[in-house]
Amino acid sequence: MTAKILDGRAIGAEIKAELRADIEKYLHEQGRPPGLSIVRIGGETASGVYSKAILRIATEIGVKARLDQFPTRISADELRAILMQLNDDESVQGIIVQMPLPGHLSQKMVVDLISSRKDIDGISPRSAGNLFLGLPSFLPATVAAVMEILERIRVPLEGKRAVIISRSNIVGKPLAMMLVQKNATVTVSHSHTVDLAGFTRQADVLVAAAGHPNMITADMVRPGAIVIDVGINQLPGGGIVGDIDFTSVSEVAGAITPTPGGVGPLTNILLLKQCVQAAWQQVQDRDRLVGEISIS
Ligand code: NAD
Repeated sequence: MTAKILDGRAIGAEIKAELRADIEKYLHEQGRPPGLSIVRIGGETASGVYSKAILRIATEIGVKARLDQFPTRISADELRAILMQLNDDESVQGIIVQMPLPGHLSQKMVVDLISSRKDIDGISPRSAGNLFLGLPSFLPATVAAVMEILERIRVPLEGKRAVIISRSNIVGKPLAMMLVQKNATVTVSHSHTVDLAGFTRQADVLVAAAGHPNMITADMVRPGAIVIDVGINQLPGGGIVGDIDFTSVSEVAGAITPTPGGVGPLTNILLLKQCVQAAWQQVQDRDRLVGEISIS
């Protein structure tokens, strides 16, 4: 069998076209575009590349994104005041705080402070709690990207066996919650799992996010399985590969994401999709509040 290639760039182009139309509608009705603030502290290069990529996509689709850059020496009190101001800022519908933070600033303080209404990367305990309870919630962007791929290829997940290789807070755990909500039977495997291949061979849907180059080989995959590769691994000699050995696994799987060009290009697009969803949600919340005040 030769697997269907799940092309993240093509899916991304489709989503961007849908978002452009949705943002046009929002702009027409609300008189301004959805706004996004990317809070960046210090000058760490990796997060600089990441913010540039988000700003570029935002410009392409019509979200008004801005980089709120602060010096490394900013105090915890100053950062707290900035986040509280952003929570109240009506021109900002989504907030992303770039990690890692400088050592003197607490990640916990940041995730506790971001309003769950604007937490478009699903990092706050309230977002995680809502997801756990099956309530509406923003997802970590990578999880949103995996779910979007599964939705777009119209895989019925009900009753399917899903195996996730990761228990991380940004991938494995939230993805498990989402797949359970879709009625899949989910196994979460991790670095202490014994006989990983024994689990992966049973998977109808296999998602790998361990961060080990080419760790999943064809003999570990059930013929016809849907295989999603979240891993991004830089090889010592240059080049990027995923956790899935693409060449061999694509001969066995039913469908597979390549790396690069699979989940990666979708992550930032899904972040912006959640920003647009946050914007509409805030309009609804405001209208409901106005309705309640005018009744009382
Ligand atoms: P992490 O280190 O927090 O988590 C890795 C997880 O893999 C852990 O739960 C660990 O228990 C599990 N694991 C490690 N070795 C294993 C093994 N041999 N067998 C089974 N499980 C094993 O990493 P992370 O931040 O979640 O990122 C994981 C990978 O996903 C990295 O390659 C990262 O670059 C990539 N990633 C990609 C995107 C994207 O946009 N596509 C986003 C986030 C992370």
